[in-house]
Amino acid sequence: MKNWKFVVVAAALIAGTAVAQQDAAPIAQQPKVQPAADVAPVSAAKPVSSSPLTLDQVVDRMIQREHALMSFLRTRTPLVETYLQNLKRDPELGAAPKDDRYFLGRLDLSSTVERRDYLSKDESFEKNLLGGMGKLFKLEYDPMGFSWMIFADRDEFDRAHYDFKFIRREFLGDVRCLVFDVTPKKDSGKGRFLGRIWVEDQDFNIVRLNGTYAPRPKNAYFFHMDSWRLNMIPGYWLPAYIYSEEGDFSYGSKDKLAFKAQSRIWGYDIKKRSQENELAQITVDSVKDESVAAADPSPLAAQREWQQQAEDNVIERLESAGLLAPAGDVDKILLTVVNNLMITNNIDLPGQVRTRTMLTSPLETFSVGNTIVVSRGLVDVLPDEACLAMVLSHELAHIVLGHNLGSKFAFTDRMLFSDQATYQNFGFRHSPEEETSADAKALEILKKSPYASKLDSPSLFLKELSARAPEISALLTPHLGNAFVNDKGQLVRMSALATSGPELKPDKLDQIAALPLGGRLKVNPWNDQVDLVKAAPVTIVSVRDKMPFEVTPFFPHLSRMENPGSVGTATAANRAPQK
Ligand SMILES: [Zn+2]
Repeated sequence: MKNWKFVVVAAALIAGTAVAQQDAAPIAQQPKVQPAADVAPVSAAKPVSSSPLTLDQVVDRMIQREHALMSFLRTRTPLVETYLQNLKRDPELGAAPKDDRYFLGRLDLSSTVERRDYLSKDESFEKNLLGGMGKLFKLEYDPMGFSWMIFADRDEFDRAHYDFKFIRREFLGDVRCLVFDVTPKKDSGKGRFLGRIWVEDQDFNIVRLNGTYAPRPKNAYFFHMDSWRLNMIPGYWLPAYIYSEEGDFSYGSKDKLAFKAQSRIWGYDIKKRSQENELAQITVDSVKDESVAAADPSPLAAQREWQQQAEDNVIERLESAGLLAPAGDVDKILLTVVNNLMITNNIDLPGQVRTRTMLTSPLETFSVGNTIVVSRGLVDVLPDEACLAMVLSHELAHIVLGHNLGSKFAFTDRMLFSDQATYQNFGFRHSPEEETSADAKALEILKKSPYASKLDSPSLFLKELSARAPEISALLTPHLGNAFVNDKGQLVRMSALATSGPELKPDKLDQIAALPLGGRLKVNPWNDQVDLVKAAPVTIVSVRDKMPFEVTPFFPHLSRMENPGSVGTATAANRAPQK
């Protein structure tokens, strides 16, 4: 699999940033599950690990911690995104996407798990994709359904309703876990969790849940889910990833429903962070006031100042709505590529170009003033740096050509809308004419850049995107920027590149035109920071391994937070000594 090593080379040659260099040696952190040597069940009386607890006490502690997590999250309203691909049987590819759906909302964890949607009714995919089937699927694909497994059982997770059977010890990443099978007691009611839980062996928090709910109601499905939590704050493991999959493609199977879906949860700390921003804002404003008298701006300078203000307002608003990651290392990598394009093309702009990462999956880019925004999903599927340069060159072209959008957002009243209404209030779509001229300029920039000799891969990427467009229209529907394809699924972005270059050969194993989702960036669900995934390349052995633009299961490398010394009162007592 190709890598972004060129970023490092280019950075060392041109920009020399320390951040990109850190990236030079990807640490092989393959998700690993190592069953511990002692697979045999431990009797209830025998202490587990070095902590003086019996298994019964472990179960009690775990139930206690689960309730502590529920009350800790009661005031939180994280974002939850579900991206679903319906599957069909394909003779070459096996189970392959047939169509797709996208949901984005805020979870209210106060009493019941409730979900408010970001996408307006008009943008809902029932209308566009499911046609006459809408009603049936609506029942089955209630977006809520994918959020259930945030907790094992919201209401009655206790010994009165469940049996817990210790299975073994097992490592998930760096974290040693105790594995239990959980079964609802007889007549304990409907919709009880049935499956397996992994409990870390220091504070006894659940870190992974795998299973479904039982008994199944007559007219609905409970999906199977694999739910993962991350230790991003002391003492708590936050629900972050849920993978769901249904359908059996074995010969003779009669399963009607076949799909795979990824749900991601982030933005747990949004409320608090926006309050901090307000405080920071006050300080900055008072400093500004004192320097205003220093110089009077020219009309052009005033115009630029105005645009800068609009740009800052929009970026800040998107960040406080939980849609944009805070500025970080990934942005610096994107900026290195932009700098490579600018330096080799002698582009000199009055303002500093900035790059930011949007936290959502749909493949989109847009720019506000001098800030280029790229979605996480898009960065995920790009196979190499030349493709990233292709994506960024289009937005850089808009900036160079002065296609500035969004100056109306310099009026701060236009920032006063609910987070859920972000997509209705913001939009940075260019006219078709501006799109065409940006494409032409982008191609010119690329041909003078260090990526000029590497344009085969962006060409293949666009061909693959174009070929897959009918099956992934939800993933290709942008919410703030311009689309790669039009309503007919025809490629409209950088199409000149797609009509030249090598032929797309899906059966050629060394031709990787696009990657599956989730392979590049990981999001910290607490503070929304994005980081590069440090995965070692895995050899592709068949066409079915390529999975361009596809959803795959999650297997995060679990580790405990660093600095356990700062745990304070948030943790349960009796920390077991480190192994
Ligand atoms: Zn554009």
